[in-house]
Amino acid sequence: RAKDIGRGTFCFFEPGMDMALRKRQQMEAELRQAMRDDMLTLHFQPLFDSRRELVTFEALLRWTHPVLGAISPADFIPLAEETGLIIPLGEWVLRQACKTAMTWENGSRIAVNLSPVQFSRGNLPQLVRTVLEETGLPPERLELEITEGVLIGNTDETLRQLLPLRTMGVRLVLDDFGTGYSSLSYLHRFPFDKLKIDRSFIQNLTVDESQRAIVAAIISMGRTLKLEVTAEGVETIEQFELLNSQGCHELQGYLLGRPMPAADAQILQRREQSRPTDRSQRESAS
Ligand code: C2E
Ligand code: MG
Ligand code: MG
Ligand code: MG
Repeated sequence: RAKDIGRGTFCFFEPGMDMALRKRQQMEAELRQAMRDDMLTLHFQPLFDSRRELVTFEALLRWTHPVLGAISPADFIPLAEETGLIIPLGEWVLRQACKTAMTWENGSRIAVNLSPVQFSRGNLPQLVRTVLEETGLPPERLELEITEGVLIGNTDETLRQLLPLRTMGVRLVLDDFGTGYSSLSYLHRFPFDKLKIDRSFIQNLTVDESQRAIVAAIISMGRTLKLEVTAEGVETIEQFELLNSQGCHELQGYLLGRPMPAADAQILQRREQSRPTDRSQRESAS
């Protein structure tokens, strides 16, 4: 440390930098501790199809810090990625999510977010295969959400991991679509089943004509490429109806349901299960 260098020496270190580094190291230690102490939990946010039937839950990580309270994954996932903790953490999320989905009798799918680091380190197809075997979850009920960051860089290596997952029957979703820098040409090179339009495009949908045009273009492109299209961050009835009328397959957002603890997700799926629907009719028709 600067003060150890000796008296009278000019200090090259910004006090602020030292603080930031120490804070980061402390956060890392606390995250490790949280993993050991079961302070991490999953919440589940529902996705509905155009008939307002519950079809999927997305697993979203939550960290309840003893002092700071709830910390957003947006704040600690980057730290977990930098430190490599994302590998054991991602494995825990996948296993926990699949186990929880096995308790849902209505057969909802479970969507799990993956970090690009899980593609560059570790054997993802093998991990997924093992977890599916262990939990007994049918592969068609698992969706893996991947951001555009995964597609940039070593695309051959990414493909090498995505293809066996697709062959297994797992569904691949391109998350936060439209925010990254990936080329549109990637869309048909990679074996995606579904695009999830980023919330930022949904926000001003009903007031901003250019946003509306972009969303309409994404949905029509999805149709051409035979990709399902989902929207995240649906907060108003107007957004819901507009997206629905444009042919969006699935919708997610605070309007339809917030991320909730597993017990509440269980209650919601049970209620949906017993609600009289034309699900069976639809299935026999398709
Ligand atoms: P994401 O996958 O795009 O998830 C959607 C985020 O938007 C979630 O934030 C969700 O709570 C929030 N959201 C959903 N509906 C609405 C809405 O109507 N309005 C608004 N304003 N927000 C809405 P959350 O839970 O804070 O997660 C943030 C991000 O952290 C996720 O973005 C995902 O990229 C990442 N993340 C979460 N869990 C995991 C995980 O287990 N593994 C990895 N690698 N990343 C995760
Ligand atoms: Mg997601
Ligand atoms: Mg998203
Ligand atoms: Mg997002």
